[in-house]
Amino acid sequence: MAFSLIGDDTCQFIAPSPLPDPYWIAVSTEAAELVGISLGSNQLPTDPDWLAVLAGNSAELGGRLFPKPMATAYSGHQFGHWAGQLGDGRAILLGELKHQELQLKGAGMTRYSRMGDGRAVLRSSIREFLCSEAMHALGIPTTRALSLVGSKQAVRRETMETAAVCSRLAPSFIRIGHFEHYAANGLHVRSQELAAYLIEAHYPECQSSSTPYLALFKAISARNARCVAHWQGVGFCHGVLNSDNISALGLTMDYGPFGFLDHTALDHICNHTDSGGRYAYHRQPKIMHWNMACLANAMVPLVEMESPGDDAADILRTALGAFPPEYEAEWLGLFRGKLGLQTVAPDDMELIESLLQLMHANRADFTNVFRSLSAVQKKDGHSNWRDQFLDRDATDAWLTQYRTRLMQESSSDAERAAHMNRINPKFILRNHLAQRAIEMAQGDDFTEVNRLQLILSRPFDEQPAFEQYALAPLPDEVVTDLSCSS
Ligand code: AMP
Ligand code: MG
Repeated sequence: MAFSLIGDDTCQFIAPSPLPDPYWIAVSTEAAELVGISLGSNQLPTDPDWLAVLAGNSAELGGRLFPKPMATAYSGHQFGHWAGQLGDGRAILLGELKHQELQLKGAGMTRYSRMGDGRAVLRSSIREFLCSEAMHALGIPTTRALSLVGSKQAVRRETMETAAVCSRLAPSFIRIGHFEHYAANGLHVRSQELAAYLIEAHYPECQSSSTPYLALFKAISARNARCVAHWQGVGFCHGVLNSDNISALGLTMDYGPFGFLDHTALDHICNHTDSGGRYAYHRQPKIMHWNMACLANAMVPLVEMESPGDDAADILRTALGAFPPEYEAEWLGLFRGKLGLQTVAPDDMELIESLLQLMHANRADFTNVFRSLSAVQKKDGHSNWRDQFLDRDATDAWLTQYRTRLMQESSSDAERAAHMNRINPKFILRNHLAQRAIEMAQGDDFTEVNRLQLILSRPFDEQPAFEQYALAPLPDEVVTDLSCSS
C-alpha cells in the first residue's frame, strides 16, 4: 500500500471530520462491485454502516477498521508556475479495499488545507461522481467514484452552498506532485521509496530494467500520453492540468471545471479562471508533455543514483522526447478507429485533421458528428450527415475523400458501423445535463443524478428512451461560467 511507505514527514495521520446527518445521493454499482460491497435492490449498500464510513463519520465497519486514515503532502506547478507545497487539503485516504485505495474527498481540514475549509460542495461533488464513472464507461483511464453522500452542512463559496463527500477509488492516488514535493525538499529517500512502491505495485515491467527509475519515468510518461490521447478522442477538456492533478498511473483525476466539447471549438477553454487558455482542448497534449518534464526534473536525483557519472538530466531529456511520437501514435490509432478505418493509409492524419477543422469551422457537435459518421455509406452518394455542417461544399468535399478512403477497407458498411458505434459514444456528460442534475439536487431531488448515472454507464448503447440526452445544448442551455470554485 502506498501509504504504508509514506512517513509522517510527508503525511498527516488524521481522521475525517464528521459530516452532520449524512444521506445517500448515489452509489456506483460497478465501483461497489469492484471493491466487493454488496448492494440491495435499492442500489445502496446492504450493510448500513457504510453510510457513516463513506461520510467520514466512522472508521469502523462490521468490526473492521480503517485504522490510519491519512492526508499526504504533494507540491506542484499551477498554471505554469511553481506553487510549492499543496497536498491533500480535503481528501483523506481511509485505507485499501481489494487493491483499491479508498479516499474521501471533502472530508474536512488537514495540515494541507491552507486557506480552505476542507469541504467540497454538492455541485462539484456531483460533477466528480458522474464524470469519473462516465469516463470509466467510455474506456478512459480514470480514478473511480464509489459514492456520493450529502449533508445540510453549510459551506461558503461565492454563495452559501451545502457540503458533500465523494468517495473515490484508485489503485493509487500518487501524483506527479508527490515526486516534485520530495525533490523540492531534498527527500531523496522518500523519492526512492515511492519509485520502488510504484514499480513493485503498478509497473512490474520496470523491475527487469538495468535502470528501473528511468524505465519508470518512461512508463509513467507513456501512460499519460495514452490518457490524454483518449481525452482528445471524446472531446474531454480537463480544465486544470496542473502537475499536482496528474496521476502517476496515467489516470484522469481531480475533476473540477472540466467540460466536453459540444459545438466544436478546438481552442475551447472550459475553465473560466484560465483566461489565457493554457489548458484549452487543443493544448492538452503539449501541456501533458510539459507535466512530464516536471516529473523528469523531479526524477533527476533518482536517475543520478542509478547511473552515476552520467548526465541524468540529459538522459531524462532524451526519454521525454518519446512523449510526442507516443501520443501521436495513440491519437492516430484512436481516430482511425473513430473514422471506422481498420487499415493504415499515408494520408489518414490529414483526413482526420481536415475533419476536425471542418467541425471547428462549423461549430458542429463533437460527439454527434462522430457518432453519426457510422451511417455514411461507401457508395451511396447522399448522406444526412452533411446537415450538421453549414458549409455544405466543404463537407461534401471531405465526404468524397472519406468515401474514397473507405474503398480501401474490406469491411461492409454494416460491419464498419457496428465497430464505430463501439468507439464513438452516443452519450457523454454534457455540461448542461450535469447542470440540470445539480439544480434539481440542490432542491433535494436526486432523480436526475441517478438517471444520468444510468444513461452514462452505457454510453455506446442507443437507449431510445433517452434520445434527448444525446442532443447538443440549445443556445440558452450552454453553461459558460465554470470556475475552479468547488
Ligand atoms: P484543486 O484545484 O481542487 O486540485 O486543489 C488544489 C489544492 O487546493 C489541493 O491541494 C487541494 O487539496 C486544495 N483545496 C482545494 N479546495 C480546498 C478546500 N475547500 N479546502 C482545503 N483544501 C482545498
Ligand atoms: Mg487537485
